[in-house]
Amino acid sequence: MNAGALGLAVLGATGSVGATTLDVVARHPGRYRVRALTAHVSADRLLDLCRRHRPETAVLSGRLEDAALARRFRDEGCELRFGAQALEAAACATGVDAVMAAIVGAAGLPATLAAARAGKRLLLANKEALVMAGPLFMRAVREARAVLLPIDSEHNAVFQCLPQTDAGVSLRGVRRIQLTASGGPFRATPVERLAGVTPEEACAHPNWVMGRKISVDSATMMNKGLEVIEAHWLFGLAPERIDVVIHPQSVVHSLVEYLDGSVIAQLSHPDMRVPIAHALAYPERIESGAQPLDLHAVGRLTFERPDASRFPCLGLAYEALRAGGAMPAVLNAANEVVVEAFLAKRVPFTAIAPVIEETLAAAPGGAADTLEAVRAADAHARRAAGAAVARLIGRAA
Ligand code: NAD
Ligand code: MG
Repeated sequence: MNAGALGLAVLGATGSVGATTLDVVARHPGRYRVRALTAHVSADRLLDLCRRHRPETAVLSGRLEDAALARRFRDEGCELRFGAQALEAAACATGVDAVMAAIVGAAGLPATLAAARAGKRLLLANKEALVMAGPLFMRAVREARAVLLPIDSEHNAVFQCLPQTDAGVSLRGVRRIQLTASGGPFRATPVERLAGVTPEEACAHPNWVMGRKISVDSATMMNKGLEVIEAHWLFGLAPERIDVVIHPQSVVHSLVEYLDGSVIAQLSHPDMRVPIAHALAYPERIESGAQPLDLHAVGRLTFERPDASRFPCLGLAYEALRAGGAMPAVLNAANEVVVEAFLAKRVPFTAIAPVIEETLAAAPGGAADTLEAVRAADAHARRAAGAAVARLIGRAA
């Protein structure tokens, strides 16, 4: 065993960010000790990862106890646990110094919050957790003195462009930040064609290979909307100090503008190994495996203003952030429901924004200062968005 190694739990190990994290970890034998890996249901893929990374614990959060399956893991020297409680326990276990929170969607909130409350070094990819429960989450980080490191490439870029102090990053002298967005696969698609685009087209992102949900969010730009809310909580900036600029090459990952007019940006070849390696090693630097940035090959970096009529989801996210309380949780839940319906080919791409808008308009609001309140707002919004989806399907039938 490597006594000095950083004990790591990867929540969502079978996903895109999970796999990329393990790729970086495998480049540094002895530096990291993988202690726990989790997946929702994919047992074979999880077992394969356990063979390679030798954690003591594996979790299948979406499966019931299965003795035969547990035996297969035990034969590889790994204890397999089942269910949501086991997921939370893995995030808080002694011996786990750092937690990569890479579950997709609201499902990641309890375990991600538990890691914050346990004071872990928290590598946050699961932006939905922070969007839903911003105040609760940031309070947990402060109280438990957890170290919160953003994995989302934009927020990781902002983090890198801010002055580092003993108390974390400082916002002194910052006028605003600009989050870059690729514009996704439909940046130039004629608007009248959007009603007919397929999930496969929506998931074919021009610059990044990611999970299906975030790929659709990138195509609607809800991903950037969620990231504006994420940036608000991470950096404590008011919505009017967070701007979005479309940058189709995805080389500039975000920019920080200071009062004196200086703008500092972070650039790299578009590869999630860069922010993941940054957060894994922070404040040191390690090899990530990413290709060096070749500006001669890139040639041109271009920037555009987002078109509000093409990307209504971005405006809805700003509205939810300004409304505050439970509204970001409502926005997130409605988005998850309607994106799932789009991926299942039950509603068209152009139904996504109207379903979210309708759900926000009908939401009772209220505070989101306890996990119970956040869960109630989430459940209420899921029912409302589900009903809106069912009405759309009924109308089309
Ligand atoms: P993915 O769909 O590839 O993987 C999701 C992971 O979560 C899988 O391991 C899956 O088993 C697990 N999971 C799914 N549902 C679950 C549930 N109900 N309970 C417990 N576990 C569950 O997703 P991804 O693209 O890796 O994205 C993960 C998170 O990282 C998302 O919040 C996304 O917004 C964020 N993120 C991803 C990227 C990227 O490049 N993929 C970039 C920035 C941020
Ligand atoms: Mg991002």
